[in-house]
Amino acid sequence: MRIVVVGSSNIDMVAQVSHIPAPGETVGNARFIQSFGGKGANQAVAAARLGGSVTFVTALGNDMYADILKKHFTEEGINTNYIIDDSHHPTGTALIYVANSGENCIAVAPGANYSLLPESITQFSEIIEEADIVVMQAEIPYETIKKTALLAKQKGKKVLFNPAPACLIDEELMTTIDILVVNELEASFISGIEYTENNLDDIAQALLRSGARNIVITLGSQGVYMMNERETIQLPSFKVKAIDTVAAGDTFCGALAVTCSQKGISREALSFANAAAAIAVTRLGAQSSIPTLVEVNAFIQ
Ligand code: ADP
Repeated sequence: MRIVVVGSSNIDMVAQVSHIPAPGETVGNARFIQSFGGKGANQAVAAARLGGSVTFVTALGNDMYADILKKHFTEEGINTNYIIDDSHHPTGTALIYVANSGENCIAVAPGANYSLLPESITQFSEIIEEADIVVMQAEIPYETIKKTALLAKQKGKKVLFNPAPACLIDEELMTTIDILVVNELEASFISGIEYTENNLDDIAQALLRSGARNIVITLGSQGVYMMNERETIQLPSFKVKAIDTVAAGDTFCGALAVTCSQKGISREALSFANAAAAIAVTRLGAQSSIPTLVEVNAFIQ
């Protein structure tokens, strides 16, 4: 299961505050938490913890976080030989206020993530050659996603694309996608069909018609839905006590990449990803909530 993840890395800086400060106001009683995030990094860590042999292609900035993140990825068993050092920008950063009410307010500074350019991928084409599946999200330049997907397709590799945050996908990119993983909001945005709970089939059919081969729609606590030209599968979620859904979707994608990399989509593969994501929602944080293979197997028993 050789997985190449091409995507973003962020440092999440979270201030837990009594209330979100108004313009000009200082809130002095904040609690500060710093953690590793970015959808690319989350999915790379998920795939590695769940048994994949993972190479992560990402760009890190001209600050102390570059070394800290490289060390972290190495400790997760991820190949860091294809990480790009961007000497002109800081590492991607998300500045997050979370109020006691649960309300939040976020500013994302993509920094080095936007320096992951199509040329870098062309330079790294040997790593795509060795992959079973290439996994991407939408926190890096669109042209890089497209270049990578076209290269992967040309080399006969599977492509899993999770267009989050939601972005429109042109026909050329769409036809390279083997597995499109979207939540219901992304599915609506991309298909142009408003989600009403009864029209998943219509949305999935529209997405299939635009060229992707397997449409996977994650439905939060309602589980997961999948349609391809042979079958439609819908699985309820595992019943758990959800405390934090951050990185649920990323855990799902990383897990699905591991189980689909060789045999493709199946009920078992979807169930495995559903289980991994269910465990993630029972724990706080992003990467700190992602389970290991041993934990998922024990949970499924
Ligand atoms: P995103 O975070 O990308 O919006 P979802 O909210 O759809 O993604 O969640 C992704 C997956 O996480 C779901 O398909 C499901 O497998 C799992 N999940 C999310 N919320 C819950 C929950 N409350 N209970 C169990 N599983 C959940």
